[in-house]
Amino acid sequence: MTEAADVVVVGGGPVGAALALALADSGYAPVVLESRDPDVAAGDPRPLALSYGSRLILDRLGVWEGLEPATPIEGIHVSQRGGFGRVVLTAAEAGLPALGYVVHYARLHATLVQALTKRVPRSLNGARVTAVRPGDDAASVAFTLGGSEKTIAAKLVVVADGGTLENLIRVRQVDYRQAAVVTTVVSGMPHRNVAYERFTAGGPLAMLPCGERLALIWTMNSGRAQAFCELPADEFLVRLHEHFGDRLGAFTALGARSVFSLVFKFAREVVSLRTVLIGNAAQTLHPVAGQGFNLGLRDAWELAGEIVRAGRGALGGAAMLAAYRARRRSDRQGGMWFTDSLVRIFSNDIAPLRAARGIGLGLLGCFPPAKDFLVRRMTFGARG
Ligand SMILES: Cc1cc2nc3c(=O)[nH]c(=O)nc-3n(C[C@H](O)[C@H](O)[C@H](O)COP(=O)(O)OP(=O)(O)OC[C@H]3O[C@@H](n4cnc5c(N)ncnc54)[C@H](O)[C@@H]3O)c2cc1C
Repeated sequence: MTEAADVVVVGGGPVGAALALALADSGYAPVVLESRDPDVAAGDPRPLALSYGSRLILDRLGVWEGLEPATPIEGIHVSQRGGFGRVVLTAAEAGLPALGYVVHYARLHATLVQALTKRVPRSLNGARVTAVRPGDDAASVAFTLGGSEKTIAAKLVVVADGGTLENLIRVRQVDYRQAAVVTTVVSGMPHRNVAYERFTAGGPLAMLPCGERLALIWTMNSGRAQAFCELPADEFLVRLHEHFGDRLGAFTALGARSVFSLVFKFAREVVSLRTVLIGNAAQTLHPVAGQGFNLGLRDAWELAGEIVRAGRGALGGAAMLAAYRARRRSDRQGGMWFTDSLVRIFSNDIAPLRAARGIGLGLLGCFPPAKDFLVRRMTFGARG
């Protein structure tokens, strides 16, 4: 038998969960279908830099308190290895309490799931979606739960599965042939709540303040990442010091290491009949600029607003979906372009380009309106 629902959310990851929470008190009673057990995400080691704008959204969703104490980012230091030029962005200059906050994916996910359990009664774990079929009057979702096959027909199906359902809407993929080694380190000098972004020929290296430690996201050629994870800890720390430079002194302790492969994947079209893609399902970005979740959270927030504005009669209809697509267009395209350009312009060792990058960083550092524009864009997106 096919059940009926107003809104079905495929995937209860951070973006799908945020959308369901935003709709929790709207009268639409979303159904969330999540394939994994909540405990599985508890092992995800990736750190997330949340923008100040994301903090405001999470606050409105009533979950920010559960994420405290998140580590504030009060400054961002950007430089390139083997080249001149650097830029420093500060919260004080931008007039913000913080440029962002660092939390772990696992903690964010657990906090959102806890809120879902209380506020979204139809949030089903262990529900693996096998097909989404867009349609004129309703889109249908086929899934398995507890060994049985089920179908729900909904006025609107929101796909927030992180991009695992293939062939739903045509997707373009760029393989950077890069992977990220993720871990935590202790530095000889305190981080003072500064995040470091260092561009190197092999790929960018980010250090985020995370409690007393630093969370490291070290991008490198995908063929080398696993071998780097298997290096003895002291050798890994020495290589890191050589790569990062002396700004934080020598590194003294290392956490567990994990590898993430990195691709840039995006849907050419984010809406179809009564179906919409948000978060990583719509665009999976390189983590270099820490934009993926922040952009996905804005997708969720703006979609919830559009659903409520449209009203029940227009839910999932062509006009509502077109309005959502138009609203998200510049933020989405800007986020994808910015991130992809950073990877392409900075991941090489061509001398003239290195010099041009140095000049660019130097100019950015001396031109406050440009710095202000960059910070606002990274904090609030294109509509900020
Ligand atoms: C190393 C690394 C560092 C990063 N750092 C940052 C950062 O600093 N800042 C930032 O903003 N972003 C960062 N990101 C990106 C961020 O992690 C993603 O953008 C974010 O997790 C996307 O959330 P999502 O909910 O769209 O997808 P996901 O987190 O992938 O969640 C998708 C959910 O859907 C479920 N699902 C999948 N398939 C099905 C199915 N068939 N049926 C039912 N459920 C299904 C999954 O189990 C999962 O729970 C980073 C990424 C990496 C890899």
